[in-house]
Amino acid sequence: MTKRMLTAVLTVALALSLTACGGRTQQEAGETRTVYTMDTVMNLTAYGENASAALDAAEETLRTLDAKLDRHDKASAVSALNRDGTVEDAELAQLTDIARTIGELSGGAFDPTVAPVMDAWDFTGDAPRVPSDEELSALLAHVGLEKLSVDGNTIALSDGAQLDLGGIAKGYAGDAVRTVLAELNVTSAVIDLGGDVGLLGAKPDGSDWRVAVKDPADPSEFLGVLTAADTFVVTSGIYERGFEENGVRYHHIIDPKTGKPAESGLVSVTVVCGDGAWADALSTACFVLGEAGSLALRDTLAAEKNLRIELILVTDDGHVRYTAGLAERFEPSEEGTYVYEAIIA
Ligand code: ADP
Ligand code: MG
Repeated sequence: MTKRMLTAVLTVALALSLTACGGRTQQEAGETRTVYTMDTVMNLTAYGENASAALDAAEETLRTLDAKLDRHDKASAVSALNRDGTVEDAELAQLTDIARTIGELSGGAFDPTVAPVMDAWDFTGDAPRVPSDEELSALLAHVGLEKLSVDGNTIALSDGAQLDLGGIAKGYAGDAVRTVLAELNVTSAVIDLGGDVGLLGAKPDGSDWRVAVKDPADPSEFLGVLTAADTFVVTSGIYERGFEENGVRYHHIIDPKTGKPAESGLVSVTVVCGDGAWADALSTACFVLGEAGSLALRDTLAAEKNLRIELILVTDDGHVRYTAGLAERFEPSEEGTYVYEAIIA
């Protein structure tokens, strides 16, 4: 545990004990649980008398999911699939089917078979590097949605394809945590999965939550604040993971057409959507698609899936454009140097 993580944990503990002294109940304070999993720090805060037991169950759910979905864990179901070319698992099949569907709806901008390309760049490893064009084109022969099939509970890969659910797993975990908390009678909770936020219900006092949206140019600053309840707020941005070489920054969201970090004119995409898995995958898809493609995908989702999403798009020339549904909910930061515009579409 780093010093900063420890401080965060202590602050929460202190806040709880202070409120206990002040005579307020734990119900008002909420209980926070920090879980290190899926390669990130998750903070779950639940309110109400069942919070503690519900958080135990939520933590268990996260660990079980990580053990199933982590392709770097040899014992996971995803590893079995990548090794054997096929695996049977009802939950994994369901999630893979969602990933494939979003892949198709986004014209391949989201592609859960991008694993071999991710490995070549080694973004999260000890020696990240820029692969050559020849290497990338050879690897891209093993990438493509058509190499992935789901039939009932059985998933299959062909042509040496590998499954990577890194662009959807955290959001799906958010859905699962929300379900577990609700089943255990929690009606108010914040599920912070390393910056991707799931909101269960509203605040205990009935008002909406306020979620800060990070500035991609400086993640310690905020673009603005979203007022929301019962939804997911998920951001994909260039600041998250990546490396620099010869003055060029390489980030970890890959355009599956080129095998290189997507250059779509966007530096950050925030998706507001009631479903965590969709929110997560769509933030990645929109990042690859760029502004026009993201808005077109938003229309497609409404028409074909009856799914409504709202977007905050940050362009590389300093504009923050948000969809009209957020006009009353997104409060731009006053200090920022961005030009803020509502998209009337
Ligand atoms: P983060 O994991 O930092 O929150 P994202 O949610 O945007 O960021 O997901 C990025 C992850 O998704 C990558 O680490 C990789 O595993 C995977 N990925 C990268 N590019 C794509 C893509 N075009 N389609 C699907 N998954 C991708
Ligand atoms: Mg994502």
